[in-house]
Amino acid sequence: MSVLNVVLYPDDPLTRKAEPFATVGPEVAQLAQDMIETMHAHDGVGLAGPQVGLAKRIFVMQAPDGEPMCLINPEIVAMEGRQEGEEGCLSMPRVYSDRVPRATRVEVKALDETGAPIHFEAHDFVARIIQHEYDHLEGVLFPDRLDIISRQTVLQEWETVRAELANATEPTG
Ligand code: ZN
Repeated sequence: MSVLNVVLYPDDPLTRKAEPFATVGPEVAQLAQDMIETMHAHDGVGLAGPQVGLAKRIFVMQAPDGEPMCLINPEIVAMEGRQEGEEGCLSMPRVYSDRVPRATRVEVKALDETGAPIHFEAHDFVARIIQHEYDHLEGVLFPDRLDIISRQTVLQEWETVRAELANATEPTG
């Protein structure tokens, strides 16, 4: 297993629509493991393919009291309710907004990392994770979901943080 490099906003392929998997082979299970390890290394609750440089429709997630899960070619087949809540993103570390609107219930169909179909519903925080990660597959990041003033604030904060991160990073060859 290995920890993958996390792509920072707005680098490619974060703002592109990701491609579906035609087949789910053994290499996908390995990728899922690496993505889960990467998510854990960054204390995240979700991580999508484009965030590790792969414009493919895959994400991993972990509910606070659950096991890590991998969703491939996911579809949100139903959603209802609406609530504003806090989100951050591993591709925009240290920047948060508590005004991200999401549905409070979603129903999801996907394949797991072995290619087996899964179908379940999720509520509240877990539904929020799924919508955030699904958005990554569409090239959408959480600031895109905000009203224009909140979005500008978040993007300005991110510009500052990104500059700090660039200065703090020594070339390692
Ligand atoms: Zn994210």
